[in-house]
Amino acid sequence: MSVSLHIPFSNAYAALPDRFYARVLPTPVKNPALIRFNSALAQELGIGFNAACSSACSSNNSDNELAQIFSGNQIPDNAAPLAMAYSGHQFGQLNPQLGDGRAILLGDLLDSQGQRRDIQLKGSGRTPFSRSGDGRSPLGPVLREYILCEAMHAFGVPTTRALAAVSSGEWVIRDGREPGAVFTRVAASHIRVGTFQYFALRRDGEAVQQLADHVLARHYPHINRNDDDAYRQLFEAICRKQAELIAQWMQLGFIHGVMNTDNMTVSGEAIDYGPCAFMDAYHPETVFSSIDRHGRYAYQNQPAIGQWNLARLAETLLPLFNADEKTAVENATAILQDFALWQQQAWLEHMREKLGFSALQNGDQALIENLLALLAEGRIDYTLFFRRLSDCSLPGSERTALLELLNMPECRTTAALEQRLNHWLDDWQQQLNQRGDGDGAEQRMLNKNPAFIPRNHRVAEAIAAAEDGDYSVFERLLQVLAEPYISKPEYAEYALPPKPEEKVLRTFCGT
Ligand code: AMP
Ligand code: MG
Repeated sequence: MSVSLHIPFSNAYAALPDRFYARVLPTPVKNPALIRFNSALAQELGIGFNAACSSACSSNNSDNELAQIFSGNQIPDNAAPLAMAYSGHQFGQLNPQLGDGRAILLGDLLDSQGQRRDIQLKGSGRTPFSRSGDGRSPLGPVLREYILCEAMHAFGVPTTRALAAVSSGEWVIRDGREPGAVFTRVAASHIRVGTFQYFALRRDGEAVQQLADHVLARHYPHINRNDDDAYRQLFEAICRKQAELIAQWMQLGFIHGVMNTDNMTVSGEAIDYGPCAFMDAYHPETVFSSIDRHGRYAYQNQPAIGQWNLARLAETLLPLFNADEKTAVENATAILQDFALWQQQAWLEHMREKLGFSALQNGDQALIENLLALLAEGRIDYTLFFRRLSDCSLPGSERTALLELLNMPECRTTAALEQRLNHWLDDWQQQLNQRGDGDGAEQRMLNKNPAFIPRNHRVAEAIAAAEDGDYSVFERLLQVLAEPYISKPEYAEYALPPKPEEKVLRTFCGT
């Protein structure tokens, strides 16, 4: 079969020196079948069928071809398949040799906006970086990543995207036997903090600089490479992007779960949706990941871990900041300190939007923190609380639906807590009123506080059905999450937290 799908690869990463990657082809799978193809994203990327095919090919044929290509069985024209080299701190421990062990970059291209984007297969077979792994991916993690990253995108958070999911027709062995699948991920790039670490650890300053130049040109073209402090500016720009990204996670109640330095991009996109989860009941110490035994990556630790990871990035860039080491360290330290402020400020701005205020004022931080303390004490559903709060912005508005949340089975509410919450609501309404923010608050809040998040039990339900061959639950969940800020009565049950028997307490990365 000749290839009729056109992907306009131009492959900038493959033009970097050989030691940045290993050229490797995907290992074919037995019986690829298309689960889902993201046509809207494909269009953005300029991917399409050649004219001769679009009229002559049936949709069965094109599904077949998409399955062949996005399983790795067929290599599209002009692809330059490779596995990227990187290192990383995993749970604080340095691992000098990681790299794409189960992912293969097909290539990169300029999208319709002129932005360079990577197209990568995940679960496409072994590479020189696979160590003892099989290079494969079970179906569950593929669907999970598909759902989570597309939901993140719908929330407006910078993220890698899902282009395709294909079942492999093969089993993969994990705890038991699971159906296999291949995921196609699109990213601004797959360059991580760990990519810089890889070269710095090998004392390959030339490669660090080449990588930094690539990142400058690709992600931060507004920085003039000829400026004396171009690399310091680069580091600052990366820190600002990460400050915003983590603030977004925090305001949405998202826990990444594996914030290793190899899972942190320099583009500022969220990547690697493994054991991640959105919180139902609010508590700052929440951890879902089965492998995060000490809670290193707990919800509330994410800003500090972001800073820790960026400090590891700074270490790799010090020689580029300044020839004088002391000055270079001072530069890095100042930016890392600022990161904490940027992160906090970005989070405050998101939280004040969640509360319907048009601008931040003195005292707002205390107001926000007091509310979160009440939510934590009562283990109140984070997402639903803010969604229903939007109905309560005007004095005298009905609070029943909001306060009903305190009666959910897992809540630890008392009459005293309810009373304090009522006082808080009075204060908040008064603030809205005093600032003249009351009138537009409801709509502003509805646009900021999602009705739908990919709740764990819904993701688990979609995966379980798909493992039995029924993809309709997965499809429906994607539909629900496509417009998360619009309440739709037909999807009302998706807004609800899990019943006690539906609760998912642990998530797995499924590698
Ligand atoms: P992750 O947990 O996806 O961030 O992966 C951490 C590291 O383990 C990366 O270098 C992956 O490529 C590698 N890895 C994870 N799963 C597999 C697998 N099934 N086969 C080979 N390498 C893997
Ligand atoms: Mg990873």
